Amino acid sequence: MNIILFGPPAAGKGTQAKILVEKHGFIQLSTGNMLRAARTSGSEFGKKVAGIMDRGGLVSDDIVIALIEEQLDANKGAPGFIFDGFPRTVAQAEALDTSLSKRGQSINIVIRLRVNDNILWNRMSKRFAEEGRKDDNLESFKTRLRNYNEQTASLLPFYVSQGKLNEVDGLADIETVAHFVAAVIDMQSAAARPGQRPLWKRLFGRI
Ligand code: ADP
Repeated sequence: MNIILFGPPAAGKGTQAKILVEKHGFIQLSTGNMLRAARTSGSEFGKKVAGIMDRGGLVSDDIVIALIEEQLDANKGAPGFIFDGFPRTVAQAEALDTSLSKRGQSINIVIRLRVNDNILWNRMSKRFAEEGRKDDNLESFKTRLRNYNEQTASLLPFYVSQGKLNEVDGLADIETVAHFVAAVIDMQSAAARPGQRPLWKRLFGRI
């Protein structure tokens, strides 16, 4: 089961990814975490991406695709992957489809966490205060939100056309969002199992 958690910066993708990892043993693939680890290591590569991240810009498609492919190979046999913060451009989404199909896999579900900009501002200031992430400041956040609206949001039609997009209310509290996410996964996996009636039919079969 391969799932993309989709939404603007600070929508709660990382939080929900962690819950899914604990519940299902999926592997979380967060390009943001991978890039942060690289910069913390002080490697040349880390130095190269640090400036881009601090400005809130997008690291090149080739780099993030290579990071993802490395992890797909390092975690062969995993029960599933949760993609968090990737893909962010249509080129990344196409590359991901190709990488997965080369490995006999595909994306099963895309879950969009819907939030609004005001709530995001509040979350960002809180996160900045708590974690002090270098790329969490007002200017970088503005750029990240703009990149999301200009480049990443255009992935929505891409996944709608594949029939994979599901939306949940990302403004609810963490447990409630986790519950919505679990319901989407349950419904989609039941629908994918031949002979198994989907959740809504099992619940409302008599109607
Ligand atoms: P956010 O908090 O904005 O969701 P992430 O933790 O996912 O951010 O990523 C932090 C930074 O790493 C981004 O602002 C960007 O510079 C870089 N980055 C992460 N994932 C990608 C990606 N898929 N493509 C390009 N750049 C990325």
